[in-house]
Amino acid sequence: MSKFEGLGLDARLIQAIDALGFENPTPIQEQAIPVLLQGTKDLVGLAQTGTGKTAAFGLPILQLIDPNQRFPQALVVCPTRELCLQIVNDIESFKKFIVGMRVLAVYGGASIGLQIKELKNGIQIVVATPGRLIDLIERKAINLQQISYVVLDEADEMLNMGFQDDIEFILQNTPKRESTWLFSATMPPEIKRVSRKYMNNPFEITVGKVNTANRNIDHQYYVTAAHHRYETLKRIIDFNPGIYGIVFTRTKVDAQNIAEKLTREGYEIDALHGDLTQQQRDKVMGEFRERSLQLLIATDVAARGIDIQGITHVINYELPDDVEIYTHRCGRTGRAGNTGICLSIVHLREVGKLRQIERMVQAKFHKLEIPDGKDVCRKQFFHFMERLLQADISHGYYETYVSMLEEKFAEVGKEEVLKRVAALEFDRFLKYYENAEDLNIRERVKSFGTESAGRGRASSNLPAHNGRGFRQRTGNNDFMKLFVNLGTKDGFYKASFLQFILDMSDLRKDVLGRIDMKELNSWIEIERNSANQMIRSIDGKNYKGRRIRMNEANGR
Ligand code: AMP
Repeated sequence: MSKFEGLGLDARLIQAIDALGFENPTPIQEQAIPVLLQGTKDLVGLAQTGTGKTAAFGLPILQLIDPNQRFPQALVVCPTRELCLQIVNDIESFKKFIVGMRVLAVYGGASIGLQIKELKNGIQIVVATPGRLIDLIERKAINLQQISYVVLDEADEMLNMGFQDDIEFILQNTPKRESTWLFSATMPPEIKRVSRKYMNNPFEITVGKVNTANRNIDHQYYVTAAHHRYETLKRIIDFNPGIYGIVFTRTKVDAQNIAEKLTREGYEIDALHGDLTQQQRDKVMGEFRERSLQLLIATDVAARGIDIQGITHVINYELPDDVEIYTHRCGRTGRAGNTGICLSIVHLREVGKLRQIERMVQAKFHKLEIPDGKDVCRKQFFHFMERLLQADISHGYYETYVSMLEEKFAEVGKEEVLKRVAALEFDRFLKYYENAEDLNIRERVKSFGTESAGRGRASSNLPAHNGRGFRQRTGNNDFMKLFVNLGTKDGFYKASFLQFILDMSDLRKDVLGRIDMKELNSWIEIERNSANQMIRSIDGKNYKGRRIRMNEANGR
């Protein structure tokens, strides 16, 4: 008997769990599932995200409700659309072997008409954000009369977002509620009040300690001057070539500014904040999920509820004021037993605040040196060598060229060939970092070379990184192709070329599509309505004494 069977789950669910590859229940599943399967017991689960709480409530719901009754029997309320979709996604995979069971996500920002139509089709489980749910209740488009189970997920987030009245309204409008299950990462007094008012002697489970960050997360911090924050961020990114993470900023403006700067410097990143339309947000999230983006630069509100496996780093560009926000940010990494790093860039005056957070999350924070230019180069170099060794040549395309290569390089030793390959990838990068400033704050600041040389380099516009491909267009905007008589022979590689044309034309990276560089010329895909601005700003200008020609490409 599997450990999941021992919890009382039936064969259809065990089959789904096997298909998902879950071997052992997580602690919250172990404790909650047998209680929730009784169907009559209220529950308060103090659990961080990433502890497996969705299965802890999702599996019992599926076992308790009747798929033959085609009306809503279970309601899950959660703070964001993102989380709604994740929960539905999880439940979909848990219910794979239950015939006739339907689950629907209802959230703001999407067509309410469509959601109303779906609801009429006989849905047993509704996963909703509070605002949209109230809207549907007021339109009498949803019937909560027969709801037996209500789950409040990330309840503290919902209260932080001002949904307290809405939640109370929802609880008051589910008269046949047999049990209420509340999950929250923290237990502020308002949650205690809601639980006292609407729940009956709830069974309490705490996974980890209150406010305690996940033990799989390593907390690190770097101390730098406030005006070196951005450069420090860049250095951290360059020092971690395989990084896949979220950088948190305090404001939308910061998120946007940092994203724009990094984009200009050739990083695979994008911003996620509240000013984006739903469509833009979906696009960014999609690209991040499929890893065409290495980093999201996000505000706290916009990044709520993101559950993406494999996030290696959460970076606090600035410390949040509130320890709960710190805990939530960190909860994006170290999920489902994986390890993760939560690092903060702080200046001297913030060290006190950091200590406070350290005490409250009850985990040791490690101070690290901001890597110097040499460290970064070495790290990048190793990464490059790995990529070189792992390049797939099994398709045999290059076999036909072997004799040509041998002839061409007959006089050149292996070592020299390797150096030349490295030079192609690395020259600009090495130059950028060769005199890089020491960004650590020390008692006596010591920099390589002169202070002004260091600063000049730090703020120069040289690209940071090599080896990054550029993002492919996924939208369906109207694009056209431009020709320009600049290429690799002019000393450009893709990132520096991109930066050059964006700087010259004062356009943003997201107007561009694919860039195709050859030795002498390049072709640029660009949104049709930005093309003129680019041509106007670049065509006829000089580059290294040569006149640049840029025009609409024909037939390429
Ligand atoms: P949650 O806390 O519900 O957001 O779950 C975090 C992640 O852990 C999700 O991606 C789940 O698919 C995964 N997960 C949940 N339960 C288990 C389990 N028992 N074994 C392995 N992974 C799990």
